[in-house]
Amino acid sequence: MSNTDFVLALEDLTVSFDGFKAVDALTLYIDKNELRVVIGPNGAGKTTVLDLICGKTKSSSGSIKFKNQELTMLSEHEIVRAGVGRKFQTPSIYENLSVYQNLELSYPVGRSVWGSLTFKRTAAVSEQVNKIAAEVLLTEQLHMEAALLSHGQKQWLEIGMLLMQDPELLMLDEPVAGMSVKERDQTAELLKRICQNRSVLVIEHDMEFVKKIAHKVTVLHQGKILAEGSMEHIQADEKVIEVYLGH
Ligand code: ADP
Ligand code: MG
Repeated sequence: MSNTDFVLALEDLTVSFDGFKAVDALTLYIDKNELRVVIGPNGAGKTTVLDLICGKTKSSSGSIKFKNQELTMLSEHEIVRAGVGRKFQTPSIYENLSVYQNLELSYPVGRSVWGSLTFKRTAAVSEQVNKIAAEVLLTEQLHMEAALLSHGQKQWLEIGMLLMQDPELLMLDEPVAGMSVKERDQTAELLKRICQNRSVLVIEHDMEFVKKIAHKVTVLHQGKILAEGSMEHIQADEKVIEVYLGH
């Protein structure tokens, strides 16, 4: 494949587990600043697609290009360093540390801050922590122990921890599961803000939420794309109604 302007280009991507193709010749392109939502029935292969992109699972064949760089040969750490952040379904935060400390710990270790003077680094870290805390609605909770946050706030903290690395592609697996209606609305606004500076790939089941955030929707079924396009297009698609939206 020649170079493209896509941030992410999956082409003919396949992974088989003992002969079963969980992802089957998938081709998918994501633009700069695009917020894409992937939906589909349980077992469709949605989480496996994220596992492949972040290097947790190795593909059987096909290509994953991030800003024209092939990711399939890279380790998970190298993929993070290339600029891909991924949030898992269960949050992995340090419950006994404060929000501030959780964010601080996520500041990229290798980043040089005009030389290596410690006080300059401290100032840069603190500036970034404050900025990200505001972005994920946790300014008032900065010095609170993470254990005391609501379920939704814990999810936002983990998103904040990923944002500390300033990824160009952020991937979220069912980010609003277990959230209150109000937290879902706030998360929708949060993701809309976040994708102004990066591309975002979200897996989600809550169709009200999907409608609020998606630029485009990809419907996955048995490891393949069943339909792709605007929310209106997807909702009117007979095949999508039959295998997913109808029940
Ligand atoms: P979804 O997220 O759409 O619900 P998954 O991607 O989790 O679906 O799973 C797709 C299919 O691949 C399922 O049948 C699942 O059991 C299988 N699968 C996923 N990961 C593995 C693995 N590491 N080993 C074997 N089978 C797997
Ligand atoms: Mg899943």
